[in-house]
Formats: sequence, C-alpha cells, structure tokens
Amino acid sequence: MPQRKAIIIGAGIAGLATAVRLAVQGFDVEVHEKNDRAGGKMYLIERDGYVFDAGPSLFTQPENIEELFAYAGEDIRDYFSYRSLPLACRYFFEDGKVVNAYTDQQAFADEMEQVLGEPGGNILRYLRDSAKVYEKVGSIFLNYSLHKLSTWLHPRVIGAFLTVRLPYLTKTLHQFNKSRLKTPEAVQIFNRFATYNGSNPFQAPGMLSLIPHLEQNQGTYYPEGGMISIPDTLRRLAEKKGVKFVFNSRVNNIVTESGRISGIVADGVFIPAATVVSNVDAYFTYKNLLEREDGVRKVLRNERSSSALIFYWGINREFSNLHLHNIFFSKQYREEFEHIFRHKRFFDDPTIYINITSKMEAGMAPEGTENWFVMINAPAKAGADWNQEVAAVRRNVLEKLNRILGVDLREHIAVEEVLTPEGIQQRTDSYLGSLYGTSSNSKWAAFLRHANFSSDIRGLYFTGGSVHPGGGIPLCLKSAAIVGELAATEL
Ligand SMILES: Cc1cc2nc3c(=O)[nH]c(=O)nc-3n(C[C@H](O)[C@H](O)[C@H](O)COP(=O)(O)OP(=O)(O)OC[C@H]3O[C@@H](n4cnc5c(N)ncnc54)[C@H](O)[C@@H]3O)c2cc1C
Repeated sequence: MPQRKAIIIGAGIAGLATAVRLAVQGFDVEVHEKNDRAGGKMYLIERDGYVFDAGPSLFTQPENIEELFAYAGEDIRDYFSYRSLPLACRYFFEDGKVVNAYTDQQAFADEMEQVLGEPGGNILRYLRDSAKVYEKVGSIFLNYSLHKLSTWLHPRVIGAFLTVRLPYLTKTLHQFNKSRLKTPEAVQIFNRFATYNGSNPFQAPGMLSLIPHLEQNQGTYYPEGGMISIPDTLRRLAEKKGVKFVFNSRVNNIVTESGRISGIVADGVFIPAATVVSNVDAYFTYKNLLEREDGVRKVLRNERSSSALIFYWGINREFSNLHLHNIFFSKQYREEFEHIFRHKRFFDDPTIYINITSKMEAGMAPEGTENWFVMINAPAKAGADWNQEVAAVRRNVLEKLNRILGVDLREHIAVEEVLTPEGIQQRTDSYLGSLYGTSSNSKWAAFLRHANFSSDIRGLYFTGGSVHPGGGIPLCLKSAAIVGELAATEL
C-alpha cells in the first residue's frame, strides 16, 4: 500500500519534531520551508568571529528531546549533547544587589535570604508548590489536547482539579507572588516568569507560578554548539527517518475539497497530500494559506504575546561579573508592562536580558571578547517607526548598563546587529513579531489558544508556538507530540 503523504509547512522546532513523529509512524513526510535552513526563530548570526544564537537562548526540559529520540529509536548521544547548569540566572537590581538564582533549591533559598532578606522557607515552599501544580495540572494540560473529550474524561483530570486552589485562578501572578513572598525583589524575580510565554505578570493568572518549576527545580541546560544545535539535530534525525526537506519553498495555499485536505500550493505548484500540518503562526495560516477571516477573528480573541528588540553586540573585552543568563531589572516593573501591553510602547527604564554563550564555549567570540545577546521586551504592534524606536531604546539600554556595570559600553561594542519585531515577523511569519503566539494575559487564555487540529477540515493539523499548548521550545515539542498522536489515527 502506498504511504500516506503528509506535508508540513514550516521547519520551526515544532515542524521538525512533528516531521520526525509522522515519519516514524509511516507517513511519507515532506517539509516545505520558505527560508534556506531549518529552525525558524532559532537561527544564527555570524560576524567578524562573533557567533550569535539569534532567537531562543534558554534551554529547559531536555527530556522532550530525549523522548523524541527514544520515540524514533535513535541514540541521542550520537547526535546531541547538553550540560546542566548550577546557576540559572544572575539578577541585577539598581541598588547594587545581585542575586544568583542557583538551580539547587537550598542554595537559591540561602542566596535569597542573604542578599534580599527573603526568608529561605518562602522560596522552598514556593518551589515545592510550583512543582506540585506543574506535575498535577501543567503536565496534564500541556501534554494532551484540550479540545478532545478523552482528555477531560481521563481519571488524572480529577487529581488536577483537586490541586487547583482559587488563588491560582482568581489572583494575578503578581498578586499571587505578593501573597507568598515578603520582599519586592523576590516578587519581581518570580513575576518575571510570566515573560516566559510573553505575558504580563500584572494580568496573567497565578497559575503561571508553575513556570519556575521548569527553571529552578528541573534546571537549565546548555546545548553544546549553542541553541542552533537543537534544530540542526532534529533536522538530521528527521532526514534519518526519511523526511524530505524542500527549502526556499513558500507555501501559498492549503487546498481543501469537500471539507478534506487535498494538498498545498507551493511557489505556484499544486502538491497533493492527504495530511497537512501547519507550523506557521495560526493567524497567517488562516489569513494567507486558508484565506478565512472567521479563523483570523478566532485567533485574535487572544491578545498577542510580547515581542522583543535584540541587539547582538560583539564586545571587545570580558566581564567576569556576568554569567550566561543575566537580568538587569527595571525599577518600575508594573509601568514597564503597562507600556508594552497597554500603550504598545517601550518603557524608558526597560528590563534588560543579556545572554553570553562565549561564557560556555570557546569559538563563540574571538579570544578575550564576548558575544552579547541583549534583549528587551517589546510591544507586538504594526506600523511602528522601528528605526526611531531602536535609537531611543539603545540610548536607554546603554545608559542603564553603563550605570550598573560602571563602564562606557560605547567604547566596547565592536560589532552590532539589531532584530526588531518587524524583523521577527519577516523571518518567521510570526504575526506582529510575537515570540510566543498568544499571551496568557487572561485566565481563559489556555482554552482560547488554537487547537492542534482543524474542527472542520479533515486532515489539517496545527503545531508550534501559536497553538496549544503554547510558545517556547518545551511547549512546541509537546505540541508536536500531541499532533503526532492525533494524526496517527488517520493511518
Ligand atoms: C528573540 C526570541 C527569543 C526567544 N527566547 C526563547 C527562549 O529563551 N526559550 C524558549 O524556549 N523559547 C524562546 N523563544 C520562543 C521560541 O523561539 C518559539 O516559541 C519557537 O522557536 C517557535 O517554534 P515554532 O515551531 O512555532 O516555529 P517558528 O520558529 O515560528 O518557525 C515557523 C517556520 O515556518 C516557516 N514558514 C512560515 N510561513 C511559511 C510559508 N508560508 N511557507 C513555508 N514556510 C513558512 C518560517 O520560515 C519558519 O521557519 C524566543 C523567540 C524569539 C524570537
């Protein structure tokens, strides 16, 4: 019997993982990617000896990748290696306090007590509850489709409901954190986890307090070769499983007939297939590939997640006080989020994230220098004059970093590249440059996020950061696993 043909549109991390799963199941899989390489938001910028991972920088839950290799019957050690990091992040406050967020719970609690005066017991209790909510609630709703009755009828759902206490739903993450922690700095550190899916801690529900479990309890990791090694590895695995890649191939339309998938049109050519998986932002899947305004409206019921403005700086010296992941907090965190989500503007005192992979590996920057990835949360919006906005943000960022680090960075920037929200949209067709599809700024957000399948087109599936269970590498890999399960029923 001929194999059933599946076309995957987009070779982002979720498209790659879905391709592997469908190929293992026996589909004849073809991936069409408009760019010339796999990875989508994960790509590389190389200039004058400086190597920058352009997109994601934080790697958590490697078990999602381990599981994918096990599913494919391959030994991950032949493809990919990563190491666990004792320090998740270093936090800098304007008053000179510096907090090391160790991944050892007790060490982190001791540090919070010593530097901030936050009782260590508060931290241990918070992390314990975060683990419980993740395991009882998160791991269920993140690993299964919310749009299938079978998910809701399973006995494990009872355990989830028994775990959910009112504050997780009725309080915002900020209110929740204030009720659990004593010091404003500790509240700010735990508020920040809302940004891990592009949300506002002053609007998103307390349920997001499960996110710290991923970073502080399960730990953070560094993939050898940098983040780009993740999509590169998955592409190799997919090819090993027989997946065919067609790069520089922009899909124009998804073609349907009598409520079923019949194929796609790529660069003007019709290609028949019975199964299509869109790894393209759900907004553009409806807008451009299906030309369905009802779908567009449905996607837009959820606010977009935040975007980012990134400066890639080759720095001509080393900073021994910086680590792989560093955060320089805004003094007025609430105002910063008000600006980003309500006024759709940058705030003058932004929170700055700096990632430096040359701290981990030689070859990422010329000797004695560092590769700085400097990111600021940005509004997801259309019609901005980004050149003007970039200039203003750059001034504010330099002023803040110079003040806290006691240097004049202008003398040390040897190389500079910039990525704006518009650039993110252009590269990956992510509407308004959102990093994580839709935000979690309401308690219903998880339920409003698009399903992993189409309810009225048979054979059409959705994978990736703009659909269930959400954005970020771990969730994208989970969405691929859900689509794999759903599509298997077609064989
Ligand atoms: C700057 C930045 C920082 C981030 N930081 C982190 C982090 O630290 N940790 C983390 O876990 N996550 C992070 N994220 C989020 C993470 O990168 C995304 O959630 C994830 O990579 C999205 O993957 P995806 O599979 O949804 O597809 P995408 O990466 O969005 O890829 C979609 C692919 O589809 C292709 N495509 C689109 N339209 C078409 C078409 N018509 N035809 C053919 N191909 C098409 C695109 O070219 C692209 O390759 C960050 C994102 C950005 C941009």
